[in-house]
Amino acid sequence: MRQNEIIAFADRYLMRTYGRLPIVVVRGDGVWVWDAEGKKYLDFVAGIAVNAVGHCNPRVVEAVIDQARRLMHCSNLYYIEPQMRLARMLVDNSAFDRAFFCNSGAEAVEGAIKLARKYARSQGGEDRYEIIAAHNSFHGRTLGALTATGQVKYHKGFEPLAAGFKHVPFNDLEAMDAAINERTCAVLLEPIQGEGGINVPSKDYLQGVRRLCDARGALLILDEVQTGMGRTGRLFAHEHYGVVPDIIALAKALGGGFPIGAILAREPVASAFTPGDHASTFGGNPLACAAGIATLKLLLGEDYIGHAARVGQYFKARLADLMGRYPFIHDVRGRGLMLGMELTVPGGDIVTRCRDEGLLINCIGQKVLRFVPPLIVTLEDIDGALIILTRVLDEVKKEAEKA
Ligand code: PLP
Repeated sequence: MRQNEIIAFADRYLMRTYGRLPIVVVRGDGVWVWDAEGKKYLDFVAGIAVNAVGHCNPRVVEAVIDQARRLMHCSNLYYIEPQMRLARMLVDNSAFDRAFFCNSGAEAVEGAIKLARKYARSQGGEDRYEIIAAHNSFHGRTLGALTATGQVKYHKGFEPLAAGFKHVPFNDLEAMDAAINERTCAVLLEPIQGEGGINVPSKDYLQGVRRLCDARGALLILDEVQTGMGRTGRLFAHEHYGVVPDIIALAKALGGGFPIGAILAREPVASAFTPGDHASTFGGNPLACAAGIATLKLLLGEDYIGHAARVGQYFKARLADLMGRYPFIHDVRGRGLMLGMELTVPGGDIVTRCRDEGLLINCIGQKVLRFVPPLIVTLEDIDGALIILTRVLDEVKKEAEKA
């Protein structure tokens, strides 16, 4: 089928939940994707921070095929070897003691909230149910994760939301200090806000939140769905801050493109879940875990994370150079290969023009261009993206001057 036909049928048969660019992506290889007309794009969206080890990484592909030949699905009524192996790898390379596997970021956040509430109850905290999250946060679209999300635009039309959540300004320790009380079960934060606009909190803030939680008997949950698995130049973003949370939520890059999510928790919190408390039919599915094992082996074994830190620094500096040249660039921020460029003008048009020129990026909250390429991106790929971006920014500048 031709691209236009596929788009027309999709518009007819799918629910209209996404505002999509009119291309059909049919193939991927490393940092590149191709559309149904054969046009090639440098992919700096990477499935929104999913394809960390590149599209169709051969090791991940082989692991999935090999597993599919042996066992594609098995219930959690039985033990699953790849699940055990992935849990062991995650535990061995983190500050956490146990894992629970699910299928998506929202599901990981939901599970983290449930685990925190269950733990509070197990400690006799009958009234400790409140979750404090941040303004501008994003935690997913299921009802609990949606309620935790601190952006009203996502709530509209879905009320009533879940009970027991409140929101405070991000990166504001005084506000957090005022909010945590004897009803607080947990504080839930992203170590760098992704969908909220690539907002990087200070080290003092996250360390201060950890101290407040410890002093008042609340748990700290970090949502590392977007920041995790090397994206920021460390396996987990909390490592930059010298803060160890009680629970983290993971998904996105964990399966190298295969859907999988996870909750990791420290003891004694992790053991608050007992048989029957939480479950997922597909959670920890053999295929997803085989993909996760292959991805984690690559991330840890090939220095992709150190590479992401180094090329990310270069990319950020080059983006910051552009600030002086274009008056409508307000800020460049982020860490590793999770970078944002805040504009004073809407960014949608820039995204479209970059797409036309063969570069995929996206825009969050109208004015922040987001760059989250695969972690295997090279300096040459980054220079290639910058050439296209600069060409587009030049056009925008010229048009603004004429107007
Ligand atoms: N948490 C964060 C920080 C995210 O960025 C996202 C998705 O963008 C989610 C949770 C939800 O993940 P999913 O779309 O896999 O449910």
